[in-house]
Amino acid sequence: MLGLMQRRELLISSIIVHAARHHGAGEVVSRRENGALVRTTYAEVELRARKLMGILAELGVKFGDRVATLAMNSDRHLELYYAISGMGAVCHTINPRLSMDDIGYILGHAEDGLLFVDPGFLPLAVGAAAKAPGVVRAIVVLGEEAEIKPGPPPPGVRLHAYETLLAQANIAPDWPVFDENTASGLCYTSGTTGRPKGVLYSHRSSLLHAFAVALPDVVGLRATSRVLPVVPMFHVNAWGLPYAAPMTGATLLMPGRQLDPVAVLHLINVERADVAVGVPTVWNALLAHMRATGERFDTLKRVMSGGAALPRALVEGFAELGVHAFQGWGMTETSPVVTLNAPKPATADQSGAVALDHACKQGRALFGADVRVLGGDGEVPWDGRTPGEVSCAGHWIASGYFRHESEILSRDGWLPTGDVGVIDANGYLKLTDRGKDLIKSGGEWISSIELENIAVSHPDVAEAAAIAVPDDKWGERPLVIVVPRTGKTPDPEAIRAWFAGRVAKYAMPDRVAIAEELPHGATGKVLKTELRRLYLAPTE
Ligand code: ADP
Repeated sequence: MLGLMQRRELLISSIIVHAARHHGAGEVVSRRENGALVRTTYAEVELRARKLMGILAELGVKFGDRVATLAMNSDRHLELYYAISGMGAVCHTINPRLSMDDIGYILGHAEDGLLFVDPGFLPLAVGAAAKAPGVVRAIVVLGEEAEIKPGPPPPGVRLHAYETLLAQANIAPDWPVFDENTASGLCYTSGTTGRPKGVLYSHRSSLLHAFAVALPDVVGLRATSRVLPVVPMFHVNAWGLPYAAPMTGATLLMPGRQLDPVAVLHLINVERADVAVGVPTVWNALLAHMRATGERFDTLKRVMSGGAALPRALVEGFAELGVHAFQGWGMTETSPVVTLNAPKPATADQSGAVALDHACKQGRALFGADVRVLGGDGEVPWDGRTPGEVSCAGHWIASGYFRHESEILSRDGWLPTGDVGVIDANGYLKLTDRGKDLIKSGGEWISSIELENIAVSHPDVAEAAAIAVPDDKWGERPLVIVVPRTGKTPDPEAIRAWFAGRVAKYAMPDRVAIAEELPHGATGKVLKTELRRLYLAPTE
């Protein structure tokens, strides 16, 4: 017997409809490319997104078509999120930090007929469109006519100004209703593990993920919250915040292109952010800036970190400034949030070193997505010691890649992640490595993450990366590359000595190298492949 409740499709458009009706005055504050802060409301975003649906249809976009964006976080990008998905097309966010070649490849693979770009990315968009001939019909610049810096578009590609199109649009159509399993968004993996592959989100998966993200033990949003997603909207849908914030009525603070510590701190303090979300690289830079200037946070209470391990030193540094830094874990294929490090009754009373150790874990599974660690004999015990490969399954976990034949799930429907970790008795996942970053020395596994955490706990070290160096005797030995803090000139031997007693003898790095900076990929992660190329190149 079926229940007698109304059946409504879980559609992304329902979020902005709710926000406009019940949080119509809720604000979206965006930094433009010239640095100015502009304000709009959820009511205005909903109206403009509906007009935009009409414009998309006039520009030839049909149900199921992919529409690309090459843009930072802004009110206009938010309008596109709702308009494109809302009409049943697929909002394909492209990472502008990728090379022009990669962007051209992705445009061609996804067959993006339309490309919406921030004014500053126009040359990149024009160059990339030329690499996918016959695919992109038009480029729309997210700004006024005057912001289009003329340069010839590739043959057959029209140029439009977003505000001109909107000013000419008059009747805003109603939001259509369709199956909640319809594709809503597309994001290509950043490519640290091979050729970019497209992850195709659905309305249902995005909506359920947004519910989870808003919960108190995740980002913890309410109508009075003021949330700053520093994580870009092209990086796994800014971890769901463009959906979760309007869902709750929370104010959205959009940093645009200015992600340097001065601009981020200004936005946090001037706009009274209480929670900010982004990758550790951003928080590292912000903390260094706070230390150098002695500035304070006026209202910020929480910082959520993800995309890479949250270093212990960051947890400590933010705590000194009255801010709770915590981490979540996930990947493009998982929408992304799967685990979040928030207390349970069994961990809530921890303090000192125990609490810090615990903060370095990636967290426990949210309802809606599950996680397990598989060893040679199936799921490993939750003992905090037995490692294996992490897999996940759930409402917002990918079941395959866009236009890819290969089967990516296990026979019982779980997605292997390539991450290696352990689960403790309380159910908290701790990553000990990515599969390919493990260093194997004399038959023993060495965790590059552990070495990196120890290196950055040295007072003179800002950032560190550990890689495996081939070794005749041991197979592989660890090399640790460190970037000193501003004004410090540490001796490599002194850093090496720092590891003594902090790691097993076999895990002591044989060599520490000092570098001015580390190569970062498009999503801020250290590019180990590049480091291997730089440091392991055969010497003549
Ligand atoms: P994202 O866009 O979320 O960075 P990617 O798909 O490029 O996603 O990379 C996902 C990988 O990032 C994970 O498989 C894991 O190796 C790493 N990662 C994400 N979050 C964390 C975390 N909190 N701690 C350690 N590694 C993490």
